[in-house]
Amino acid sequence: MLPLTGISGGISKGMGRPAIATINLDALRNNYRIVQQLSGNGQVMAVVKADAYGHGATACATALADIASGFAVAFIEEALELRAAGIKQPILLLEGFFDPSELEMIDQYRLDTVIHHQYQIDALAAHPCKHPVRLWLKMDSGMGRVGFAPENYRKAWEQLNNLSFVKDIVLMSHFACADEPDSEHARQQLTTFNTYTHGLPGERSFCNSAGLVALKEAQGEWNRPGLLLYGVSPFSQAHGIQQKIKPVMELSSAIISIKAIPAGSSVGYGSQWIARRPTRIGVVAIGYADGYPRHAINGTPVFINGYRVPLVGRVSMDMLTVDLTDLPDVQIGDRAILWGDNLPINEVAQGAGTIPYQLLCNLNRVPVQYHGILIPEQLNFDQVEI
Ligand SMILES: *Cc1c(COP(=O)(O)O)cnc(C)c1O
Repeated sequence: MLPLTGISGGISKGMGRPAIATINLDALRNNYRIVQQLSGNGQVMAVVKADAYGHGATACATALADIASGFAVAFIEEALELRAAGIKQPILLLEGFFDPSELEMIDQYRLDTVIHHQYQIDALAAHPCKHPVRLWLKMDSGMGRVGFAPENYRKAWEQLNNLSFVKDIVLMSHFACADEPDSEHARQQLTTFNTYTHGLPGERSFCNSAGLVALKEAQGEWNRPGLLLYGVSPFSQAHGIQQKIKPVMELSSAIISIKAIPAGSSVGYGSQWIARRPTRIGVVAIGYADGYPRHAINGTPVFINGYRVPLVGRVSMDMLTVDLTDLPDVQIGDRAILWGDNLPINEVAQGAGTIPYQLLCNLNRVPVQYHGILIPEQLNFDQVEI
C-alpha cells in the first residue's frame, strides 16, 4: 500500500471527484446592489448567518465589505468569525445573546444585538457596556417566536432607554408570511407594529427578503435580506424578482456512468423507479451526503448540456440517477448542474418538499470554489463606520 505521505503533492480536497459548488461573488455584489435599490433610502444589513446560507460567510462578507451597510448573523460565534476576517461594519446578532458572559465580547467587538426578552434587559442592566451600544428591540408582532408582546414593548424600550450606554434602539420585528402572495397576516403584523411603536423615536427594521419585495410599506431605515442576496427568490410561486437577481451558487458534478436498461427494470435503492421504456440511465457523482435532498421526487430536474432531464430513482449518499434517453449525445464526463443559473434551486426544493434555504444551508462535503472579486486590497476599512 502506498503511504499517503509518499504521494507527490499530497491529496487535496476535490482533486478527484467532480462534484463542486462554485460561488460567483460578482453575482453576490450585483444582487446586493439590486437589494439596495429595492431598499430606497433604507440601509441594508446583509444577512450572512449559517455561513452565508452555505456560501461562506467570510468570503461573502469580504466581497461585500466596501458596499454593505452591515452584516447580520445568528449568534456571537458567527460574528467573531467576521471580525477576525477584518470586517469592520456593524454586525448584528439576530438571536441576541444567550448568556450575560457574552456581553463583554459584544462590547469589545462592538456588536449590535437583538433584545427579545426581559432576561437580556436584566443582564444588560447588571453588566454595563463600556462603549455605546446599539440595540435592536424585537417585537413579536405575529411571528409567535421571539420578541416582546406588543403591549410590553414600550416598557422594554423605556428600560433600555434608561441605560446610559445604550446609544440607539432600533425598533424591529419579523414577518411570518411575507412570502405568501397578498399576505393578510403580514399586513396585520405591520399594523400591530406601527400601532405599538407609535411615537417611539428610532430607526425601524421589519423586512426580510420577501418583505422587501412584497411589502414596500414595511421598509424602514434598515432592511435585513438574506436569500435575495444569494440570487434566490423567497417566493415559492414564480416571481419577476428572479429575473433581476442572479444565483450565486452553482452545484454541479459529472456523469460517471451511462447504461442502457430494458423496460421493466428498476433503478436505485428500494427499486422504487421502474423503467417504462428502454432507458439510458446516467449516474451523477453527487448525493445526499453532499446536501442534495434525498427526498427529491422522480422528475426533479437536473440540467445537462443545455437541457433538463428528470431525476429517477432514489437519491443515494454519493450518487443520483437521471433518465438520459431523450439526450442521446450525453457522454460520461459531461457536467450535470443540480442547481444554479439555468436551474433555480426553488424547483429542486419544490421537488423535495422543502425550501431553498434548507438546501443551501445543507451543502456539505463538496469543495467550494470562488469566482469574482475576493478580498479586494484597495478596500479601505478605515472609512467604514464601526
Ligand atoms: C434570517 C433572518 C432574516 C433574513 O431572511 P431572508 O428570508 O433570508 O431574507 C431577516 N431577519 C431575521 C430576524 C432573520 O432571522
